[in-house]
Amino acid sequence: MIPSSLAIDSKLPWVGTTIFTVMSRLATECGAINLSQGFPDFSAEPALFEATMRAMQNGRNQYPPMAGLPELRHAIGAKVESLYGARFDPESEITVTAGATQALFTAIAAFVRPGDEVIVFAPVYDSYVPAIETVGGRAVYASLLFPDYRPDWESVRRLVSPRTRMIIVNTPNNPTGSLMTADDLATLADIVRDTDIVVLSDEVYEHIVFDGGKHLSVISREDLAARSIVVSSFGKTYHITGWKIGYVLGAAALMNEFRKVHQFNVFTVNTPCQAGIAEYMADPSRYLGLAAFYEQKRDFFRAQLQGSRFEFLPCRSTYFQLVRYDAISDLPDREFAEWLTREVGVAAIPVSVFYPDGRDDRVVRFCFAKQDSTLSAAGERLRRI
Ligand code: PMP
Ligand code: GLN
Repeated sequence: MIPSSLAIDSKLPWVGTTIFTVMSRLATECGAINLSQGFPDFSAEPALFEATMRAMQNGRNQYPPMAGLPELRHAIGAKVESLYGARFDPESEITVTAGATQALFTAIAAFVRPGDEVIVFAPVYDSYVPAIETVGGRAVYASLLFPDYRPDWESVRRLVSPRTRMIIVNTPNNPTGSLMTADDLATLADIVRDTDIVVLSDEVYEHIVFDGGKHLSVISREDLAARSIVVSSFGKTYHITGWKIGYVLGAAALMNEFRKVHQFNVFTVNTPCQAGIAEYMADPSRYLGLAAFYEQKRDFFRAQLQGSRFEFLPCRSTYFQLVRYDAISDLPDREFAEWLTREVGVAAIPVSVFYPDGRDDRVVRFCFAKQDSTLSAAGERLRRI
């Protein structure tokens, strides 16, 4: 250990280690089945690895252009146009990022100034608020209303002020599995009309929507497309969370500002993985099939929990299932998640960590992006309590 007596004035005094790292570490320590942090325990297809390996062997190992390989930006543009009907120019309106977390941080850093307010919805994905505060902004909290987690637009209307620089939305929503509707988008558009508020829309689970539902991107409305930065992640779509590659879409004027920061933040993203993904994306069934694939996993996981005392909350999207456990325990959710990991051998995420006031509805989150054998082994343990 290196001794240091520097007086450090922390920019994030209240921030500890992210819950995903904490719970995954605990799961490893205890040998528990890890249904906490969101990542698949199965492999992506060999075709993706082969395409990436071929790129490396063909010497594609030096810096790509700052905004990303043109072939990948064109593939993204074609996908986005076919799914959402909006045309983004690969030259000036699409940027490849080192995952969604970097994209979100960079977007916040590009637009939020000290003293600016950013409206977020609680429960809120854990990276947004630390990013806002690192650049001197202030998060103000609207709600997703328990138990079906619909956005409380009245609270948003009340929170909008001359200081509001940005509203961050996340649909399909982590951790709740809820989805924005056309009415939600219309209300959002109404609230921001005649303002200069930027909408930052985290849509990393865009392809994972169940029961015939449809993901409505903010760019499906022209008025929102004109003021939004949309974030997505190949980690979720192609089962490669460790590759850390994603992208952002935004009108040229917004993207210009985004890239000013991006180029000095990561500059660019590794070349061979971009080339491999660009080739792999040519077959749309690889992302279009994702909803059915994960719907089967959701249903399989729920079937494993039949006969347990967990109560399911609705799961319309993402690969997370929220459950209430108040029939099992009256422990606070953090303690319950820790007990579940240590004593039952299944790790989960306590949902109170996503609330600024630690609101605790006695709900935990399970990730079902797992092999059926993992889900059935977890189910066997969870049915016993
Ligand atoms: N946003 C949400 C809502 C997420 O769930 C995640 C990660 N799973 C991210 C952003 C970050 O994605 P990435 O791993 O590409 O940084
Ligand atoms: N987004 C993933 C989850 O919700 C985790 C990503 C991370 O560990 N930062 O579990």
